[in-house]
This record gives sequence, structure tokens and C-alpha cells, in this order.
Amino acid sequence: RSKDAGGGVFHSYEPQLHMAAEERRVLEIALRSAVENSEMHLTYQPVVVAATGQLTGFEALLRWTHPQFGNVSPVKFVPLAEEARLIAPIGEWVLRTACDEAARWDIPVRIAVNVSPEQLHNPAFVSVVAQALAQSGLPPERLELEVTESVFMREGTVAIEVLEKILDLGVRLSLDDFGTGYSSLGYLAHTRFSSIKIDRSFVQGASKGTKEAIAIIRAVVALADSLGMATTAEGVETEEEHLMVQQLGCSKVQGYYFGRPLPVHEARVLAMHATGSSAAA
Ligand code: C2E
Ligand code: MG
Ligand code: MG
Ligand code: MG
Repeated sequence: RSKDAGGGVFHSYEPQLHMAAEERRVLEIALRSAVENSEMHLTYQPVVVAATGQLTGFEALLRWTHPQFGNVSPVKFVPLAEEARLIAPIGEWVLRTACDEAARWDIPVRIAVNVSPEQLHNPAFVSVVAQALAQSGLPPERLELEVTESVFMREGTVAIEVLEKILDLGVRLSLDDFGTGYSSLGYLAHTRFSSIKIDRSFVQGASKGTKEAIAIIRAVVALADSLGMATTAEGVETEEEHLMVQQLGCSKVQGYYFGRPLPVHEARVLAMHATGSSAAA
């Protein structure tokens, strides 16, 4: 099919818009068969204790390598998968793979998995989580699901009920990209999050000395402390940023300074060294 098929009219005024729409269409089609074609894999980024640098776990981050397009960033394809209603099957694959891989390590570190709002608005998601745990044998307390504030912006109580049932399974929840959404804080009173992840934009701002960013991190740390939650600073790239967020009271840190997202085997080796475990391959 020609690239111009059906798009000739827009092409003359809005070449960029047209390109974007065409690219999206092509990527969406490719995305439909990405899992079955084994084009996806997970990488694991270390999360460490701010004060000691001790490893506490990993965040599983999805990677897509298409045979022609190469590596496509999740920043691009996750929103596309959400719009095309493909995030449920892809997310299910992510959850099963993360639980299987982590269970095989047999090392007591926690694995965090990102979950899209779309997945949480479906009551069937509870059994997807329960099955991933049962089939892998991963203890529920070693799984953490990362959700964003946007999940609370939609009407209805389905997502809140789903989150409650996931907590009942013994799985932990963290609140991702905190401070970048537009939601009210009310939900913090009724959903038990173990930790709040402070978005990288505030970390960067704080280390540049931006007063507002520093004030926001202080306020989030105070809020989390008073609610009995931990705080994780995201995207820490330098020693300076590490010292800054540590001084501001963040309990955990994650970022290139401590480690990039790693292939599964490298993450396992890191975990073995960090925990002094001698688990066999
Ligand atoms: P996120 O959950 O906030 O993940 C953190 C992102 O920051 C990751 O980008 C990670 O590679 C990046 N990062 C970590 N440390 C640093 C740092 O020091 N500097 C910089 N510049 N970046 C850092 P990534 O892997 O490209 O993922 C982007 C977003 O895509 C994630 O943001 C998450 O929202 C989404 N995503 C990734 N995997 C999944 C998944 O399996 N399911 C869903 N629903 N979303 C996912
Ligand atoms: Mg995340
Ligand atoms: Mg995040
Ligand atoms: Mg983020």
C-alpha cells in the first residue's frame, strides 16, 4: 500500500502531522504481532537504598526491537498500545515474564512492574496478577506494581477495587511519576501505597538549585513519611543529584548513576553479588 494512500489532502498542508499519523499506523500494526514474534524483552534497572547504596530491587522496563524499525522506545509505543487497546495483552506478557524471570533467580529482591491505567480499569486484571504469581511461584511480597496518578482521574471505582484486591494478594503498590499528573491527593488516603516515586524532572530541578523543585521534593517526602510510605527519587544521573535527594530525605534512589536498565542475566549477577546469594543458575 502506498504511503500516500488516502492521505493526499493532508499531505499538502501538514506533512509532519501526516508523517506522524502514518508512522503511528505502521507501528500499531507491527505492535499487534510484537509479542507473538518474540520482539519484546524486559530490562531491569536497579533500585537502591539512598543512604547505603544497597540493592533493594529492580524495575522491569519493556523493550521492543522490531526487525526493520530497530529499537522503539516505550515512550513512543506504550501510549500507542494504550490507544490501540493492545496494552492488556502486552501488559499481561510483561507481568508473566517479570514474575517468571524473577522467580527463577531465587534471590530475595523485589521486582517492580509498570501497569497502565487501562489494565486497572478491568476487573479481570486481578486474576492476571494472581495467575502470574501462582504459575511462577514468585512470593507476592516480591512483586510491586507501579501505577500513575492518572488511574484515579477516571470516573468510577473499578480501578480502586482492583487495587484493593491486588493489595489483598500481598502485592505492593507504588505511585509512579509523582507530581506530573493532575489528580487530587484524596486517593492517598484510601489506597495503601508502599512508596511514592518522585519524577526525574524534580530531581534535575533540585540539583540545579531550583527552589520550587526543592520545595516539592521536601513536601512529598514529608507527606510520604507521615503516611508511612517510602520515597524513591527517579532518574538520578550524578553524584550531585544523589547527594541532593539523599539530603532531602528520599529513602530510595534509581537512575543511571547507580545502574542502567540491564539484560536479565546481568541483573541476576548483580543481585547475586549484592545479596551474597549463591543460588545456582
Ligand atoms: P517510568 O516507569 O517512569 O520508568 C523510568 C524511565 O526512566 C525508564 O525509561 C528508564 O529507563 C528511565 N531512566 C532511569 N534512570 C534514568 C536516568 O538516570 N536518566 C534518564 N534520563 N532516564 C532514566 P524507559 O525504559 O524508556 O520507559 C519509559 C516509560 O515507559 C516508563 O517510565 C513507563 O511509563 C513506560 N513503560 C516502560 N515499560 C513499561 C511496561 O512494561 N508497561 C507499561 N505500562 N509502561 C511501561
Ligand atoms: Mg515506572
Ligand atoms: Mg517513573
Ligand atoms: Mg518517570
